[in-house]
Amino acid sequence: MKNPIRISFEFFPPKTPEGRAKLYKTREALQAFNPEFFSVTYGAGGTTRETTANIVTNMRKDGISIAPHLSFGGDNEETILGLLNTYKEAGINRIVALRGDMPSGMGAVAQLVYANELVAFIRRHTGDHFHLEVAAYPEIHPESNSYDDDIRYLKGKFEAGANSALTQYFYNPDSYFYFLDQCEKAGIDAPIYPGIMPILNFDNLVRFSRNCGAEIPRWMKKRMESYRDPSDARKLGMEVVTDLCETLLEGGAPGLHFYTMNQVGASESILQALGLDAR
Ligand code: FAD
Repeated sequence: MKNPIRISFEFFPPKTPEGRAKLYKTREALQAFNPEFFSVTYGAGGTTRETTANIVTNMRKDGISIAPHLSFGGDNEETILGLLNTYKEAGINRIVALRGDMPSGMGAVAQLVYANELVAFIRRHTGDHFHLEVAAYPEIHPESNSYDDDIRYLKGKFEAGANSALTQYFYNPDSYFYFLDQCEKAGIDAPIYPGIMPILNFDNLVRFSRNCGAEIPRWMKKRMESYRDPSDARKLGMEVVTDLCETLLEGGAPGLHFYTMNQVGASESILQALGLDAR
């Protein structure tokens, strides 16, 4: 049975054979929710060029829909064309096209290529073969000069040929709904799927959120800080994210994209609590 909304799950390429074995199990367990696709992140600067490609082409052999994330980083056009050909030959028909961020220490090595340019490049060389997802930021990309600029650049990605967008995670649903309104006013009519980050480790989340520009609500931070027992924090995290998903779906979000951190448990529990267990 197909889920009534579009669900997708994001993984990162594990560094160890154990991590890889665990990821295959995670992927199998999450298949129960009939996701539209899984995706695998890409270390800009080419740091996971081979591992991302290996994981997606191997998982594709199981017949699932899987999308590699891709960015130029410091790579030349030939390298990106090589990857596009590998993906086409493997029967992959979706890519998450990004500018990416340089890993620290590689900052000066190469000029980053904006995502709209990557989208245009993929369209120029592979026509309509790939469904192209791009990134969107309801709380606005940390490097953006202004809210309007960020929407204008998102529109540029669709004008270059992107089909839909996946958002950075957020915990304030109003930021998403306001963003959708502003996108609509700017003439963007493509679907924008909210990115959902289950709360696995709150301290890590706070640290990570500082860099990517996602806001952790003050009330949530204060509440989390007051807990001594980690299980209380986990319980609140689960409630907050389940409520967020409910609000988003009631408000008309077309689906949910889960940042799984390669774990089954949290995404699975949230989907079950939402009654979206497809089994
Ligand atoms: P862009 O859309 O190119 O935007 C980058 C910045 O430049 C923004 O501030 C934008 O306003 C501005 N801008 C955009 N176009 C132009 C232009 N033409 N001229 C001037 N300014 C412009 N990172 C990874 O390294 N690997 C991943 O696999 C990965 N996966 C992600 C998946 C999702 C769903 C999301 C939301 C983010 C992901 N990221 C990943 C993080 C992302 O790479 C960073 O947020 C990065 O800083 C911006 O990438 P982008 O594709 O949004 O860039």
